[in-house]
Amino acid sequence: LMQIYRPLNFIGFVYRELRQGLTDIEEMFKLLDQSPEIEDKPDAKPLVITGPVIRFDNVTFHYDPDRAILKGVSFEVPAGKTVAIVGPTGAGKSTISRLLYRFYDVTGGAITIDGQDLRDVTQESLRSAIGMVPQDTVLFNDSIGYNIEYGRPGASIEEVREAAGMAQVGPFIETLPKGYDTPVGERGLKLSGGEKQRVAIARTILKAPSILILDEATSALDTKTERDIQSALDVVSQNRTTLVIAHRLSTVVNADEILVLREGVVAERGNHLDLLAKDGLYAQMWNRQREATEAEEKLLQTANDP
Ligand code: ADP
Repeated sequence: LMQIYRPLNFIGFVYRELRQGLTDIEEMFKLLDQSPEIEDKPDAKPLVITGPVIRFDNVTFHYDPDRAILKGVSFEVPAGKTVAIVGPTGAGKSTISRLLYRFYDVTGGAITIDGQDLRDVTQESLRSAIGMVPQDTVLFNDSIGYNIEYGRPGASIEEVREAAGMAQVGPFIETLPKGYDTPVGERGLKLSGGEKQRVAIARTILKAPSILILDEATSALDTKTERDIQSALDVVSQNRTTLVIAHRLSTVVNADEILVLREGVVAERGNHLDLLAKDGLYAQMWNRQREATEAEEKLLQTANDP
């Protein structure tokens, strides 16, 4: 009975915490770290980063033993490079980012950072090395300045301003009557998805992690917002080992390597031009997305024409 009771009790705990407003994704992960499933080994050592190089070595994973989600995924993100993962919904893309954060342990194969198996290092050192920009950032009910400073508690207002500037959200904040003291979140100013994501990017710039996980929003963004976010992402991912769960063409085109994941296996890999030349799944996805973008631009143009 305890086996059933413990997880249920745990879910209740997380739910109560979430209700109390701790809805930030990293906070959520912190709470979930207390999951009885993932525990530091007694001899776990802090992760030592030199590169950092991320390696997935024949990784298999299932949430439920009856259904394999990842079926032998291998790839490497060399130090300072960007690898983008694309593929249909349900292919296992987000699962890969969750495994890298060690939200779960792999069920076969191994994930290493600079040769250290994630299962052998302390969770605290792993998570302090990784910055995560989630799809949908839920902000704290506090000032916008606090929401950015959270990336490195104790950072000065100048540092917060600098990070906001690099994330292309600074000018917007300056136009608010209370500036960085403006309350945001449920009980404050509502920010658009694009603004929230830039706040998350500013927070991550301040945290300055050596590894970055970006989970791009699936929702369509207007061209200007997409451009602003892309330049913010370019700043934050520069010289950082970056894994992107990509939905936007702009990110994919610039990635050093693209993995096309389908039903838990890497179906195609290469850079943008390699994959277009292959004329396979990636080329199909690309053409479909390009047609959609062109149609949208035409529509906007018609709307703007007198
Ligand atoms: P993608 O990011 O490519 O859309 P995901 O990695 O989110 O795919 O999910 C892959 C598969 O795993 C999906 O079929 C999804 O329903 C399943 N899945 C995701 N999370 C869980 C979970 N916590 N428990 C059980 N199944 C899950």
